[in-house]
Amino acid sequence: MKNYEIGTRVHDHCLNCFSNEQKVVEVVSKEFSDRVVETLWLQCTNCGNLHSRLVQHDR
Ligand SMILES: [Zn+2]
Repeated sequence: MKNYEIGTRVHDHCLNCFSNEQKVVEVVSKEFSDRVVETLWLQCTNCGNLHSRLVQHDR
C-alpha cells in the first residue's frame, strides 16, 4: 500500500497552468473495513493552485 506524505511530489495535471508537478500539502484519510480512501490536497509547484484528488487503497 502506497502512502502519500506531505511534501511528496506527484505527477498530476494542474488545471490552471497545465504543469504536471504537484506537491502534497494535506492528506485526509478515511478507513473502511476493506479499503482506505484518501483525499490528497495538491498544490501546483508552478502556480500554487490547490486542488484535491481521491485515491483508494485495498487494505
Ligand atoms: Zn499550476
